[in-house]
Amino acid sequence: MASDQVEMRKSVTPGAVSMLLSNSSPDSPSDIPEIIVQVVDLKPIGSSSTRFTFMASDGKMKLKAMLPTHFSSEINSGKLQNLGLIRILDYTCNSIPNQPEKALIVTKCEIVCPSLDMEIKSDVKKEETGIILKPKQEALIKSDAKKEELGMSLKPKQEMVTKSAVQIVREQHGNAAPAARLAMTRRVHPLASLNPYQGNWTIKVRLTNKGNLRSYRNARGEGHVFNVELTDEDGTQIQATMFNEAATKFYPKFELGKVYYISKGSLRVANKQFKTVQNDYEMTLNENSIVEEVEGEAFVPETKYNFVRIDRLGAYVNGRELVDLIGIVQNVSSTLSIRRKSNNDTIPKRDITIADDSNKTVNVSLWNDLATDVGQQLLDMVDTSPVVAIKCLKVGDFQGVSLSTLSRSTVVINPDLPETKKLRSWYDSEGKGTSMASIGSNLISPNSKTGSRSMYSDRVFLSQITDDPTLGQDKPAFFSINVYVSFIKPDQTMWYRACKTCNKKVTEAVGSGYWCESCQKNDDQCSLRYIMVVKVSDPSGEAWLSVFNEPAEKIMGCSADELDRVKTEEGDEKYQLKLKEATWVPHLFRVSVAYTEFMNDRRQRITVRAEAPVDCAAESSYLLEEIHKLSVS
Ligand SMILES: [Zn+2]
Repeated sequence: MASDQVEMRKSVTPGAVSMLLSNSSPDSPSDIPEIIVQVVDLKPIGSSSTRFTFMASDGKMKLKAMLPTHFSSEINSGKLQNLGLIRILDYTCNSIPNQPEKALIVTKCEIVCPSLDMEIKSDVKKEETGIILKPKQEALIKSDAKKEELGMSLKPKQEMVTKSAVQIVREQHGNAAPAARLAMTRRVHPLASLNPYQGNWTIKVRLTNKGNLRSYRNARGEGHVFNVELTDEDGTQIQATMFNEAATKFYPKFELGKVYYISKGSLRVANKQFKTVQNDYEMTLNENSIVEEVEGEAFVPETKYNFVRIDRLGAYVNGRELVDLIGIVQNVSSTLSIRRKSNNDTIPKRDITIADDSNKTVNVSLWNDLATDVGQQLLDMVDTSPVVAIKCLKVGDFQGVSLSTLSRSTVVINPDLPETKKLRSWYDSEGKGTSMASIGSNLISPNSKTGSRSMYSDRVFLSQITDDPTLGQDKPAFFSINVYVSFIKPDQTMWYRACKTCNKKVTEAVGSGYWCESCQKNDDQCSLRYIMVVKVSDPSGEAWLSVFNEPAEKIMGCSADELDRVKTEEGDEKYQLKLKEATWVPHLFRVSVAYTEFMNDRRQRITVRAEAPVDCAAESSYLLEEIHKLSVS
C-alpha cells in the first residue's frame, strides 16, 4: 500500500494536552498557540442536545473536556463527529472537585476535520496503516475489541487493511476500485446503528429512490440539491441529501436499483415534516463522501406502497404524512407553466383527475418532469383509463383536498399489482358508468370565501371558541368542529320565504304572490329556506350555531318546504319527531366565528359554513395523526 504518500495535514498538535494544562487560564485568546486535539468519546451530557463532553486527545494524553453549548449545532448537524479534530481558540482548565485531574472547558473552537478514521495513537509505529495523519505519525488500532468500531474487519494474518478516505477516492478515480476485495475486508454497519455522534462507518445500501437535481436560491445564494432514499439489507431506510458540488458529483453516479458502499457522510436529526422513510436521522453527503458501486448486486427495487383510498384522504390534509395513491386516470390537463414566486422560474405542472372504488375523485398536480414525461404519456393514453400508482404525495387543502407530487414522488402507469386488477374490474363493471364527486367537494362550502379548507384543518373543541371572546373580533375566524346536535328548539322560526331566483327574502305582495325587493319583481311562488339555530355539544361544552339552508338540510334530512309540509299537514307531533330524529347525530362542521351587533349588544356568533358526515375511519386516522404529532414534538 502506498499510504505513506498520502498527505492529509490533519492531525493533532503534539503535546497539546500538556500545553493546555500548563496554561490553564490564558489571559487572551491571542496568547494561545495552535492547539489541535482529537475529539474522542464525544457524547451528550445525559439527554441534553446542547451539552457535550469528550476526551481531548493529542495521541498520547487525554483530558476530560466540554464543548461550548453553542457548538452543539455543529454536532447535531454532523459537522463535528466523534474522532473529529478541533482547533481550540479559547478555554479554561478547571479543577474537578475531589478529583486530582482537571477538566478542559472549551469556550471557543473551530472544526479542523469532521471525523478521522480512527483514534490517533502516537506511541506505536505501524507501517501499513492508511490513516490520514501527518508523516511520521502513525495510527494504531487500539485493541481487537475496538476493531469493530473502525468500520472494517481485518483479514486474517494481516493486521492492517483499513483504507483511508483518500485511498478509496484515489482508487475510484483511478477506476481501480476492487469492489469485491473491499467487500471482503470491510465491515458494513447496519443503517439502524448509525447516529450523529459516530465518526466512522460504512454502509451497504440499495438506491431505492432518486430525486431530481433541483436548483434553489436562498439568502446565501444559489445552488442545487438532490436527494436519494437508501435501503440496507435489513430494510432500514434513510434519506440522503447532497448539495452543490456533492450533488453535481453524485447525481450521475447514483442509479436507481444499484447497490453502493457509502462512507464519510454525516447524520442529523431528521426533519419530520415530510416523512417518507422511517428514520430518526437523515444523511448529508458532501463532496468528500465516498460512494462506491457494488458490482453485480443491482436489482429492481420493489416499491412498497401504502395506499390510501380517496375517501380517506381528508384525514391527511395539511398533515405531516405523505400518502400513496392508486386509481383510474379520468382526466389529464395540458401542461401549464407556473411561475415560482421565490425566484421567478417557471415550472411545468399538469393536473390529473383520479378515481377509485370509493366512488370519489381527487385532483393530483404533477410537477416538473412528472408533468412533462409521465404526464404526457398519461394524456396520450387517457382514453384507455389507465391505472396509476403514485408514491409520496403531499395532501393539501386546495379545493378541500388536493394532492401534489414532490421531487421524490414516483408515478407508475398500470403497475403490476393486485390493486391494479381490482380497480380495473371495478371500473369496467361499474365505475365507468358512475358519476363521481370530488372528495374535496363535500368537505368545503362552495360559498365560503376564506374558509374553504378541509373538515380536518383547524380542528378545535367548542370551548376553544366559546372561551375566547377575542375570536372573530376583527375578522371572521374559521374552524372545524366534530359535534353532536344536542337540541333544536321547536318554537323558533326555522325558515324564511325566499325568492326562487335569488334566494333573498320576499314579502307577501299586495293582492297575491311574493315581492322580491332584490329582483324588483313579483312571483306567485316562493320557496322556504332554513335559517335556524341549533345547540351542539362536544366533550368540552356546548354552543349555539346559526345554520343556513344547505347545511340545515343535511342536519334535518329534508328541505324546509318538506318540513313545513309535515308541520302543516301531519301535525305538531310529527314535526317534533322530525326534530328529535335530527338530534344526537354527529356532524363535522366548518364554522366561522364573527361578531354581530344587535340592539347595542355585540355577540360572538358561530355560523355553520359546511357540513360533512363523520367518517369514523377517516376520523380515526386523523386522531392518530394528531397523537403522533404530540409524541414527536
Ligand atoms: Zn329575487
